Amino acid sequence: MCGKEGIWFDGGGFYGAKDIDCICEACLSEGKLKELEIETNEAFEGTDEQKEEIVFRTPALPTWQDRCWPFRDGDYCVFEKIASKVDFTNKEEFISSFAKEDQENSDLSDIWENYLAEKPITSIEDGNYDISIYLFTRNGKKHCTWDAS
Ligand SMILES: [Zn+2]
Repeated sequence: MCGKEGIWFDGGGFYGAKDIDCICEACLSEGKLKELEIETNEAFEGTDEQKEEIVFRTPALPTWQDRCWPFRDGDYCVFEKIASKVDFTNKEEFISSFAKEDQENSDLSDIWENYLAEKPITSIEDGNYDISIYLFTRNGKKHCTWDAS
């Protein structure tokens, strides 16, 4: 929108009535998307300010599914990367990084054994697996979500 050089995010997957091709990091963090009523992610918890940070000023998660951002201990987590096995000490740590609902409703042990990438994922093409694990952190603790493509 401003034509500045720098990091640009593809706007193709954003939510909203209007379409934009892309937005630069500066415009994104200044909240320009709010004026256009374009949302990058979905957020339903916390204060309006916390939600706006995720919905209008945070790059979209690299997923084709609903981008629901994990909210833990009073605030939103920081997205780190698409996870691989090397990001966890062991299966127990992997499983305990998920929300209770995921631990109860998903076969995380199966995901760990059969779907979690063995090596670090370096690009989005690389990360195009059947199941993707999104690694977030908050206060030094790991929090994961997953989806299937
Ligand atoms: Zn800009």
